[in-house]
Amino acid sequence: MRFGTKVIHAGLKPDPSTGAVMTPIYQTSTYQQKAPGKHKGYEYSRSSNPTRKALEDNLAVLENGKYGLCFGSGVAAIDAVLKLLKTGDEVIATNDLYGGSYRLFAQVFAQLGILFKFVPMNDMTVIEEAITGATKLIWVETPTNPMMNIIDIISVSKVAKKHNILLAVDNTFATPFLQNPLDLGADIVMHSVTKYLAGHSDVIMGALICKDDALAERLYFIQKSSGAVCGPQDSFLALRGTKTLHLRMQRHSENGKKIAQFLTEHPKVENVYWPGFKEHPNHSIARSQMRDYGGMISFSLKGNSKDDAFKVMSTFKIFMLAESLGGVESLTCHPATMTHTSIPAEEREKLGIVESLIRLSVGIEDIHDLIEDLDSALKSV
Ligand SMILES: *Cc1c(COP(=O)(O)O)cnc(C)c1O
Repeated sequence: MRFGTKVIHAGLKPDPSTGAVMTPIYQTSTYQQKAPGKHKGYEYSRSSNPTRKALEDNLAVLENGKYGLCFGSGVAAIDAVLKLLKTGDEVIATNDLYGGSYRLFAQVFAQLGILFKFVPMNDMTVIEEAITGATKLIWVETPTNPMMNIIDIISVSKVAKKHNILLAVDNTFATPFLQNPLDLGADIVMHSVTKYLAGHSDVIMGALICKDDALAERLYFIQKSSGAVCGPQDSFLALRGTKTLHLRMQRHSENGKKIAQFLTEHPKVENVYWPGFKEHPNHSIARSQMRDYGGMISFSLKGNSKDDAFKVMSTFKIFMLAESLGGVESLTCHPATMTHTSIPAEEREKLGIVESLIRLSVGIEDIHDLIEDLDSALKSV
C-alpha cells in the first residue's frame, strides 16, 4: 500500500459488532470478562482501548514501524521515553529544541538526576565528543523549531549505533508524509499529534512509534504504569485527521514554498528560514531525507525591531496570532515571547531566535489570500 492509501486504511477495519466503517468511539473505561482473565483483549482503558488502538496501529504503519503508542499530549509521549532512563544517565539533545521539550528536560528530568547536553547537531564530532559511558539517549528534532535547521538522521543514527545509544526523533514538523526517521536509523519516532497528524487544532495528543519488540514492551509498560493516555473521543478526532494527512501536507508544502519565495523577495524581510532553499545550509540533507519541505517558515525583519514584529503580527487578518502549528488554518507566533520563553535570552539569540523573528505555520487556505495578508501586514511597518 502507498501512503495515500495507508492513511485511510492502515490499522482500521469495520467494527466487528456492527460493520460500522468508521472506528466507533469506545467511550468505556472497562470491559466485561467471561471468567477472570478471559476477555477479548481489552481489560481496562488505561491499558488499551479499541479507538485508541486503531489510531496507534494506523500511526505505526504510517511511520513504517511496528508499534504505536498514543498519549494525552506530545510532552507526555516524550516523558514516557525519558522514563526508560534512570538517575545518572545522560541525554544528548538538539540545542534548538521545541521549548516544551527543553523545559521538560532541563526543569523536570534534570532534577531527577538525568544529565542533558544540548548541542548543535550539524557536526557529528560535536555529538561524539558529548558522548560518555553514561549516555543512553540521543534526542533529535528535525526540522528544528523555529530555526528550521535540518539534522542528518542517518549520520546521527550511525553515531548512536556505534555507541549503543537509543535514538529518538521528534518528527512533529515533518510528519510521516515528508520523512520517516525509523527508515533512517532511528529507534523511536515521537509526534505531537496535536499538530499536523490531527491537523485541525482541536486535540492535544502525542505518539511514539517503534519497531523493536523489547523496546515497545518497555514503552507499553510505562504508558500503562504512568497512565498519560489519550481518550477515545480524541483518538477518533486524530484518526479522522490522519485520513487527509497526504492531501493537507501537499497543500501545506505548496503554500509554504510560495510564501518562502515571496518573503525572500520582500524589501522589509531580513532572513527567511525554510529548508527548501538551495542556499539553506542543510538543504542537501533536507532533500535527501525529506520528500518535500512542509509549511513551517520563520523570518526576521530588517532592523530587527520587536515592535515591528508585533505590528506585523497584529495586522494580519488571516494568519492568526496563536501558539501551535500544523492545523488547516494559518497561524503566526513570536518565538522569543511565546513558545521559547523557557530558553534564556542569550541562549535564544545564539540560536537565531532574535527579537523580530516571526514564525509562520502556513495553512491550506487559498495562497493568494495568504500572500495578500502577508504583504499588507509587512506594509504596516
Ligand atoms: C507541540 C510540540 C511538542 C509538544 O507537543 P504537545 O502536544 O503540545 O504536548 C513537541 N515537539 C514539537 C516539535 C512540537 O511542535
